[in-house]
Amino acid sequence: MPELLTYRNKRDPARTPEPVPGAGKRTTKRKSKRDTFVVQEHHATALHWDFRLERDGVLVSWAVPKGLPLDPDVNHLAVHTEDHPLEYAAFEGEIPKGEYGGGAVTIWDHGTYECEKWSEREVKVVLHGERVTGRYVLFKTGSRDRDWMMHRMDPPPADYTPMPSLIRPMLAVLREEVPRDDDKFAYEFKWDGVRAIVYVDGGRPRVLSRNDRDVTVSYPELRAMAESLGSRQLVLDGEIVAMDERGRPSFEALQARMHVTNAAQVRRLATQVPATFLAFDVLHLDGRSLLDEPYTERRRILESLNLSGPSWQTPPHFEGSGEAILAASKEQGLEGVLAKRLDSRYHAGKRSDCWLKVKNLRTQEVVIGGWKPGEGRRKGAIGSLLLGVPGTDGLDYVGHVGTGFTDAMLRELESMLSPLERTEPPFATAIPRPHAKDAHWVEPQIVGEVAFGEWTKAGILRHPAWRGLRPDKDPAEVTRES
Ligand code: MN
Repeated sequence: MPELLTYRNKRDPARTPEPVPGAGKRTTKRKSKRDTFVVQEHHATALHWDFRLERDGVLVSWAVPKGLPLDPDVNHLAVHTEDHPLEYAAFEGEIPKGEYGGGAVTIWDHGTYECEKWSEREVKVVLHGERVTGRYVLFKTGSRDRDWMMHRMDPPPADYTPMPSLIRPMLAVLREEVPRDDDKFAYEFKWDGVRAIVYVDGGRPRVLSRNDRDVTVSYPELRAMAESLGSRQLVLDGEIVAMDERGRPSFEALQARMHVTNAAQVRRLATQVPATFLAFDVLHLDGRSLLDEPYTERRRILESLNLSGPSWQTPPHFEGSGEAILAASKEQGLEGVLAKRLDSRYHAGKRSDCWLKVKNLRTQEVVIGGWKPGEGRRKGAIGSLLLGVPGTDGLDYVGHVGTGFTDAMLRELESMLSPLERTEPPFATAIPRPHAKDAHWVEPQIVGEVAFGEWTKAGILRHPAWRGLRPDKDPAEVTRES
C-alpha cells in the first residue's frame, strides 16, 4: 500500500488542523543515531494515548486506551493504527468534532528511543522521554493487524507504588459533642449520601461502595471527572450525594439512584436525579501512597488537584471553633460535622477516633427482620417493619418503624422482602407480643436506616422514622451506634 494512503484517506486537509502531506511527498530527515518517539494524549470519543515511533520516514502508531504502563505487572491494550507522517510528532490542537479523531490532542511525552527488535509481531524499544524512560515491548496478540499489547520490561520507576485495587474507607467514631481541643482538628460538613472510593486510572473511574461493591455503572457522572484527570492515577475518598429541591444533599433523593445498575435506566435517572461526587480525601497519587501522610498534607494535595466540574467538587474544610461549625451545619440543614485530626494518617478500613462525627439528626442502621400488614389504605401491604441490630447472640430486636415511607419505597420493600420470607423470627431476643402477632418474618439480609429520638433503657429505638435502604452496607457490619 502506498505510504500514508490510509492516513490521507481518513483526513480532509481543508477540515483538520493536522498535517496532511500530499501524495508522493516524503519527509526526509537528517540521519541521527536515535529515532524519535512521541506520546499524544487524545481526548477523542474515548480518551487514549497515541504512541508513535519514528521508523523508515513515518510514525508507526498505536492507540493505547489506558496510556503507557508503568507497572510491569499490568499490560495495556495497544491498538495498532495507521502510520502517521513525521510532521505529526509536533502536532497539538483541536481536531473538529465530526472529523476523524475529533477532540483535543496534546503532547504527553516525547524523546528518543533505541530499537532492540522490530518484527511483524514484536517491537522492543528503550524509551528516553521526559516522563517515561525504560524498556518496553509491543506484541501482537491476535490475527488482526490491530490487536497488540504493551508491556513494560523494566521494573517500575524508582519509588513507584502501584495503585492498590482496594482501599477500604476510614470510619469516624460518633460523639455527642465536638472536641474541646479545637486546634488539633479540622472540620468538614457531613454529607448525607453514600460513601464512595473512586479509583481513577487511564482516564477511567472505578467506584466502590463501602461494602466493596463495584457501583461504577450506577454513577456515570464520574466518567467526566476521570477523563478530566488525563493520565493521572489516583484514589479519592468521598461521598456521592443527590440534592433535594432546596439544594441540600438528601439521602432520600439519592435512594432513586442507589439500586439502579441498568445502564439505560441509569442514563434516564441521571438527568432527573443528578448525583454529585464530593471528594474529601486523596489516598494515592501517581505511583505514591498517601495513606501515611497526615490529614493536612493529604488535604493540600487534594486541593492542588482542583477537582471541580459539573458533577464533582472538593467540599471546604474549616479550622477554628467546632461549636460554630456545628451550629452552621444545623442552620443549613446539614447532617452534622466531622472533626478530623490534623496530624492523623488515613486508617484504611478502621473506625478511628482520629475522625469524630457529631450529628444533628440521630440515625441508626437497621436490619429488616420482618414486617406487619398495615391498616386502612395499607391493609394487606407493608404497614411497618420489624428491625434488628446484630448483638452478642444474634440479631437484637430494636423496634418497629411505620412512618417515613413513600408509596414507591413500600412497593420496592415488598418486592425485596417477599422472596426472603421465612417461618421463624430471625431475632435472638424477645419481641413484644403485640408486635410479633401477624408478623411476616424474613431472612435478615436487607439493611436500612432510620432517624430516631433516643434509645430506651431496654435498647429499643424511640420514635423511629424510615430514611431509606442502605445497599452499601452489609447486615454483619451494622452496629449499634450510640
Ligand atoms: Mn488518536
